Amino acid sequence: MQIGTLKENYPGESRVAMTPESAIQLMKLGHACAIEAGAGLSAGISDDAYLAVGVKVLEGATALAATSDVIVKVRQPTKAEVDLLSSDKTLISFFYPGQNAELLELAKEKGANVIAMDMVPRISRAQKMDVLSSMANIAGYRAVIEAGNNFGRFFTGQVTAAGKVPPAKVLVIGAGVAGLAAIGVATSLGAQTYAFDVRPEVAEQIESMGAEFVYLDFADGEGGGHQDGAATGGYAAPSSPEFREKQLAKFRELAPQIDIVITTALIPGRDAPKLWLADMVAAMKPGSVIVDLAAERGGNCDLTVADQRIVSDNGVIIIGYTDFPSRMAAQASTLYATNIRHMLTDLTPGKDGKLVHNMEDDVIRGATVTFEGAITYPPPPPKIA
Ligand code: NAD
Repeated sequence: MQIGTLKENYPGESRVAMTPESAIQLMKLGHACAIEAGAGLSAGISDDAYLAVGVKVLEGATALAATSDVIVKVRQPTKAEVDLLSSDKTLISFFYPGQNAELLELAKEKGANVIAMDMVPRISRAQKMDVLSSMANIAGYRAVIEAGNNFGRFFTGQVTAAGKVPPAKVLVIGAGVAGLAAIGVATSLGAQTYAFDVRPEVAEQIESMGAEFVYLDFADGEGGGHQDGAATGGYAAPSSPEFREKQLAKFRELAPQIDIVITTALIPGRDAPKLWLADMVAAMKPGSVIVDLAAERGGNCDLTVADQRIVSDNGVIIIGYTDFPSRMAAQASTLYATNIRHMLTDLTPGKDGKLVHNMEDDVIRGATVTFEGAITYPPPPPKIA
């Protein structure tokens, strides 16, 4: 089979779904590999680097798709890209089937099999293909770097001949994959880091990384009973009004002292909860920075504008970029291409260049959104955790 990689055409998208290293591994599975000319350039990979390991370089998406059995890419496809598919082809990319009914219908009409990488079940066995985690890790890292780039002071405290410098105070809201990555970077840069999540089980992880878990004050005084959002299989659920009020009161108390806020709070299938309100921004010191990783889903901060860096009336910088992984395209491409390679390894059990789309396999079934002319989204729940 030929695995072909399209050049991303979404404005500003710099990632690529195949690297020379991932291609070498795919070839060991018996596949031939091809890229659309220039596909790796914005991630720092030249056509020559692909040619050097035996990847074909083809001019244009049409030529690439016409000769490839499996087409891989990063971003959800455009309609024009779905048009390139046919009943003998498989597409593997982000797809967000829940938000792209029309695209799903078009893929079904084409008879193509589509594997949505964003639908890979988040079970232990599938961690090696979990693109949501690999990209969230990069986003969390980059959010702190971006904050540092906009913040006018050191992260670490210093005592120098020219004066004493206090450490920056960083608050991370939401300690999932992105939040934990952000905590790791902020603490390693020497910031005094605080973190909050509705899921109490993350307190230990937060503390083991050198950050302080922000507890809420409930009258019953029970340390473990303060968070309420962990009722849905390890994922956050919307907070009760009482809990939300406590949470906002705590953030209001912290706002004047915090220099950098990184927000990552998301609830599956919903708009991002608004947690850093306009009055909290107004209470922050000028020069403070907010990086809102939830910007694409409406933002955790009242003032966030998606894809923009804005400055509030009181001089707080609010960053709502939605392309953090693409801003580290070389790293993101390496990890994404490895996730894709693992998916293709599972799809090539004989290591003989033959694709076996096994719908009995929980991971493959979970991620397959169209199969043999039918829409197969949403999938049944996975059998194994
Ligand atoms: P996410 O991006 O959906 O959410 C980010 C974080 O926001 C979560 O930690 C969530 O609890 C938090 N949040 C939601 N509402 C909040 C609020 N009001 N205030 C503060 N925080 C709030 O989550 P994610 O990073 O994709 O991961 C979530 C969970 O899934 C974690 O437990 C993670 O370890 C788990 N996970 C498991 C696997 C696996 O087993 N293969 C892989 C990835 C993630």
